[in-house]
Amino acid sequence: MTAGNKPLSAHRRPLSAHKRIVIKIGSALLVDRKSGLRAAWLDALCADIAALKQAGADVLVVSSGAIALGRTVLGFAPAALRLEESQAAAAIGQIALARAWSTSLSAHDIVAGQILLTLGDTEERRRYLNARATMGELMRRGAVPIINENDTVATSEIRYGDNDRLAARVATMVGADLLVLMSDIDGLYTAPPASNPDARFLDVVEAITPDIEAMAGDAGSELSRGGMRTKIDAGKIATGAGCAMIIASGKIDHPLTAIDNGARSSWFKPSGTPQTARKTWIAGQLEPSGRLVIDAGAETALRSGKSLLPAGVTSVTGEFQRGDPVAVCDASGREIARGLSGYDAEEARRIAGRKSGEIEAILGYSGRAAMIHRDDMVIG
Ligand code: GLU
Repeated sequence: MTAGNKPLSAHRRPLSAHKRIVIKIGSALLVDRKSGLRAAWLDALCADIAALKQAGADVLVVSSGAIALGRTVLGFAPAALRLEESQAAAAIGQIALARAWSTSLSAHDIVAGQILLTLGDTEERRRYLNARATMGELMRRGAVPIINENDTVATSEIRYGDNDRLAARVATMVGADLLVLMSDIDGLYTAPPASNPDARFLDVVEAITPDIEAMAGDAGSELSRGGMRTKIDAGKIATGAGCAMIIASGKIDHPLTAIDNGARSSWFKPSGTPQTARKTWIAGQLEPSGRLVIDAGAETALRSGKSLLPAGVTSVTGEFQRGDPVAVCDASGREIARGLSGYDAEEARRIAGRKSGEIEAILGYSGRAAMIHRDDMVIG
């Protein structure tokens, strides 16, 4: 894809200059409430994807639309659905959605592979590694993974609920260098443009500061801001892992070519200090399984780059297995670090406050000296 006549601003690079690109497509682009799937639009998008692959990039798609498609098939009235209704809609819609992607991509001799993920697949290390290996194998074989949340089985407590954050997690999982969030919003404004005439468009975001977060509003105003909150959350996950992010509108045909031709879009720069993939994964955990409260001496040790020893742990809450993510808090309860526990919760309770040399006598075997090894920990 070329940049057309208009020179690209300095912060913009052609999409094809990226090695691995995750593209998230919002439901409203793929599905029309009345007529169902927007097949011609999808065909044009797949031509853009084929061009990126031709240029040598790996492409992964996170596609919404299962619930929207299923509800048109089931003839649900345009009102909020109950959980079991949306799960039934997703069950029906996901088949049609996967078939649509597969058909459109096959016109370019590209094979599609469906992956349905739940929150646990990106949170739990063993499942995370497994999902990542599957996606890697698909890409090695030239296929395009078509990813969605496994909406039919996810319950409200264990679901993402939005594909923005799911797409960001996928991007960090596969080490992508670009995430494109494509929906009906063309980017980030300093205020809601519909209600505020002074709202200014931001074409580049150097870093996601508290000011930027404030522009997205809080979760309560999500509807009126067009879901900007989850997009900024996605930006934090992606840019923190060294992955650039673009918010762009997909309302026109060939929306990826349009970005290269200078279409309005907000570009989020990746953070200047790329963490290792392991640390990135730890820092991005949405739900730590437990909490360790530590004393002031242990906090000082942590901040100087040392591991967390059992002796500095004053209390252990939650149920977790060895290798699960836990939050590390100071005596006031403030989270200061996150890490992968070297012990399961029951063992951690028994050795908390004790010297590392006593571990063998307490547990009956010589475990690790550290409760959390420094390589497995990210400080605040
Ligand atoms: N997973 C949902 C679906 O396929 C979409 C979630 C979202 O729109 O972010 O319908």
